Amino acid sequence: MTPPIGILGGTFDPIHHGHLRLAQEALEQCHLAAVRFVPSGTPPHRTPPHASARQRLEMVRLAVQENPQFTVDEHEIYRTDACYTVDTLSALRDELGAQQPLCLLLGSDAFLLLHTWHEWQRLFDLAHIVVMQRGAGSTGDGRPLGNAINDGDTALRDAYRARLAPSAQVLQERPAGAIMVAHMSALEISATDIRTRCAEGKNIHYLLPQAVGEYIQSHGLYTC
Ligand code: ATP
Repeated sequence: MTPPIGILGGTFDPIHHGHLRLAQEALEQCHLAAVRFVPSGTPPHRTPPHASARQRLEMVRLAVQENPQFTVDEHEIYRTDACYTVDTLSALRDELGAQQPLCLLLGSDAFLLLHTWHEWQRLFDLAHIVVMQRGAGSTGDGRPLGNAINDGDTALRDAYRARLAPSAQVLQERPAGAIMVAHMSALEISATDIRTRCAEGKNIHYLLPQAVGEYIQSHGLYTC
């Protein structure tokens, strides 16, 4: 049995306590060895993030610096071409070997759109998927995950039913292929809200790590 490594992708513009709490809950409930934070690059034809790649990377570094089980991964951050999760996982698989269990960490809202991702079925060859449900077992729109899956895409529903793991032990027994549902308390924090508060000159204390707040202030980020 090998403890899995968790992968948490995001824009992290900026990273905040919702992201960190998600990683911590996944770490504990899935018995992960570590969580790698993978800040996204700047793909063409998408609205670019507000902070630069270097600034977002630096904020993630500051946020995780006190936790030896949290690390930062630079696979995507400096890429300006289309960078798909399947490619990132493939590179991680090459780096970490065929037997290392990997867990892609996703919010339930992101999981319900998985069938729209590039080569989504191949994700299961490369990693397990851990769906983090926020609050009392509901998805972003308030419906229980099971109901939302039943009402959603047929191929995704079939994958969910076939791959649902009865316990976190499955994640250690195989390198990839299972779906696990884990739970976390709802923290109503979003990067969008933090940017709005900054632009309005409001306080962002306690929404993100202090070092990240100081970085935002000293670099004058998100002021307009
Ligand atoms: P934005 O407001 O700019 O869309 P965000 O705060 O949602 O950003 P992302 O970088 O897009 O942050 O999110 C990365 C991952 O973190 C996603 O899987 C998302 O579901 C999850 N996430 C974001 N906010 C929270 C939160 N408050 N609690 C738990 N998970 C969260």
